[in-house]
Amino acid sequence: MSRIAYVNGLYVPHAEAAVHIEDRGYQFGDGVYEVCEVYGGHLVDATRHLARLARSLSELRIRAPMSDAALRQIMREVVRRNRVRDGMVYIQVTRGVARRDHVFPSSDVAPAVVMTARAADFAKADRQAGEGVAVITVPENRWDRVDIKTVGLLPNVLAKQQAKESGAREAWFVTSDGLVTEGGSTNAWIVTGEGRLVTRPATRGILRGITREVVCEVAARQGVPLEERPFSVPEALAAREAFITAATTLVMPVVRIDGHMVGDGRPGPVTRALRSHFHEATELVAV
Ligand code: PLP
Repeated sequence: MSRIAYVNGLYVPHAEAAVHIEDRGYQFGDGVYEVCEVYGGHLVDATRHLARLARSLSELRIRAPMSDAALRQIMREVVRRNRVRDGMVYIQVTRGVARRDHVFPSSDVAPAVVMTARAADFAKADRQAGEGVAVITVPENRWDRVDIKTVGLLPNVLAKQQAKESGAREAWFVTSDGLVTEGGSTNAWIVTGEGRLVTRPATRGILRGITREVVCEVAARQGVPLEERPFSVPEALAAREAFITAATTLVMPVVRIDGHMVGDGRPGPVTRALRSHFHEATELVAV
């Protein structure tokens, strides 16, 4: 079955889907995106993803391309047309197409919208979660508005490539004062020796992950104490457990940091429980 993409009002074969060379996303990274999980034929937390998309657009003063109801309708249609049961839907909105000029184009330039959907092998992800993954640490070198989910991801691309070349799944950005911010495409967590969950507060310095929000709720339901505060690399190395979170990655145990074992080198019970009960705290809407 061939894949279908949504591009500016049309459903087109994925292989032929294209945007204009003067799309500002292409030329300036002037756009935002969302990745929403599809789980058993349901959109996961679409309401929260659309709310974050609206916030990202507003922070960059890009106008909303259409109503949330219309965006949601296209999300479902893209998922349906690609027959995705488990996987993800990708939404991208840029400031639109205009003659190349750094300053904003006139207000009659419409934002450009692209959506794609693709299947993922959740059984494989579960097997990986059974073993855990490795992370490396890299210096934080991103701008200070990483709370906006922009398509400008070059530092993340380079960090994740470095992780891959080191045999790791993720790279954790570390500030000059030694504190972990987040991963290249995930939020970062540890479980202390006292069994307390620690993750950086989602004010500035990280993306407020939707998965992160849900994990905070699952932890509360399970009675796991949560501390929203930064943690250092030595603290992570001394932790009992560590994990990363993102839509589709869900809760993924981290068993090695820069080649050093975390805990006993195996996924721990707190992480496993958060992963297995994750969807109980999500909004699931049938496609
Ligand atoms: N942090 C970064 C830099 C990300 O790119 C992502 C997801 O892509 C996340 C965190 C996790 O966000 P979410 O849980 O909403 O997928």
